[in-house]
Formats: sequence, C-alpha cells, structure tokens
Amino acid sequence: ILRTENLVKTFGGLRAVDGVSIKVDERTLTLIIGPNGSGKSTLINVITGFLKADSGRVLFKGEDITNMPPNEVYRQGIVRTFQTPQLLKSLTVLENMLIANVHPGEGVISALRKSQWLETEEEYVERAWELLKFLKLDHLWDRPAGSLSGGQMKLLEIGRALMTEPELIVMDEPVAGVAPSLAHDILQKLVSLKEQGITVLLIEHRLDIVLGYVDHLYVMFNGKVLTEGKGRVGIERVVNDPRVAEIYMGG
Ligand code: ATP
Ligand code: MG
Repeated sequence: ILRTENLVKTFGGLRAVDGVSIKVDERTLTLIIGPNGSGKSTLINVITGFLKADSGRVLFKGEDITNMPPNEVYRQGIVRTFQTPQLLKSLTVLENMLIANVHPGEGVISALRKSQWLETEEEYVERAWELLKFLKLDHLWDRPAGSLSGGQMKLLEIGRALMTEPELIVMDEPVAGVAPSLAHDILQKLVSLKEQGITVLLIEHRLDIVLGYVDHLYVMFNGKVLTEGKGRVGIERVVNDPRVAEIYMGG
C-alpha cells in the first residue's frame, strides 16, 4: 500500500534519511526499529509530508505523494500519531475524538468552528462512542484529556486517528513509556485493526514488547535500512542478526 524509493533527507551535512526504500503491504503491521537518531521519525515525517524529501519518492497505492503537504497526504487516507500525543488537554476525551478531523497545528477555536461536532451529527458522535468503547476509554468520556495517564493518552491519540477512517495509520512510538500490560493492550488493538482493512506502520526503538505483533520488520541505523525480515522466519533471522542484537542491546 506504501512504498518509498531511495528517500533522502539531509539536515545541513547530516544525512538523517540516507536512501531508504521500504515497502508496507496492505493489512500488515510493519515495524521500523532503530536506535536514537537513526532517522525513524525523520522518515515518517517525510512520508506524511511534515518534512520535504531532498530526493527519492513516496508512493501510496501506486500514486506519487512525494512532498505533498500534510493535509493532502491525510486526504489520501494516511493519518499519523506523534511521539508526544497532540491532544487538547482542557477538552474532554469525547470532545477530543469529535474534533479529530482537525489538522494538528490549527487553533482550538478554528478547530471547533470547523468540526462536525457543532453540527452534532448523530452518526459521527456514535462513531466516536464506538471507538471509545473499543479502546476501553468510554468510562472516561467526560474527563479532561489532560487528566489521563500517559498510556490512556496514547490510546486516545489512536482513537482520534481512527476517527478519520484512515487506510494507513503511521505511529511514532505508540507504546514508548507505557506500562507493559497496557502496551500489550494497545498492540492487540492495533493488530485487530488489520481485520478492518487498516494498515499500520509503526516506529519504536525497543523491540521486546512489540515483536510478537509484527508482520514485517525493518531495522534502521545511521539513516539507512540495515536489514529487514517478513513473516515469522524472516523476523527471527533479523532478530538473530548479530548487528541487530548489538544495536538493540546498545539502544
Ligand atoms: P529517536 O529514537 O530518538 O526518536 P529517530 O530515529 O526518530 O530517533 P530522528 O529524529 O529521525 O531519529 O533523527 C535523525 C537524525 O536527524 C538525528 O541525528 C537528529 O539529531 C537529526 N535531526 C532530526 N530532526 C532534525 C531537525 N529538524 N534539524 C536538524 N537535525 C535533525
Ligand atoms: Mg523519533
């Protein structure tokens, strides 16, 4: 569903993403791991239009989306979450869901003005409610988002992403800093999205918690893809690669 071809992004003299080609198959959970500074966030920022590529291409469903602005990428059916959840902390959990279609960076007022919430479309609210139930956040619906735990905020961020009915959801460290039991919960939720036809591309710099849920694994190092593996056997080969073990232990 998504492909990058020889993607390059430099900051001054630093090649943060240095000729990366990846393929994300439809209805899979694809994971990119790599140590701090290996270029993971930069890569997905380029994919989702938050950074411009120096060279190379991004293809989504065969269509060239290289360097499209973020809101256009989003209109193609790609939604992303951030390392730090982008929630409106003084608004309630439900309200955050209802303004999910508002692009990050827009002010609250313009967000509310534009949101379907003000039209109180029953179907839209219903959808938010169903998703909150799916994520087991429904009992918190009237709490300010700022009062949630870190893990609950990450779940809410996922809920907001799903409100936009994406085909591909790109997530930057959805379980980083989350207690292991909740992390497994979140990952199980992500796996179940595949049945709804949603493809998940995620980034983590830890492998242990995520490994059991992954269909396709890429390892990045110094802006490059060091190795990759698909399926149980392929992933096992990657994990047993001494270079990966070294980075993984070092990271
Ligand atoms: P982490 O696991 O810490 O999130 P990462 O793999 O996501 O790391 P990136 O954030 O993509 O790594 O950073 C890759 C390299 O690019 C790093 O050396 C970083 O310092 C540099 N870098 C990232 N963003 C910028 C920027 N806006 N300006 C200059 N350098 C940047
Ligand atoms: Mg990062």
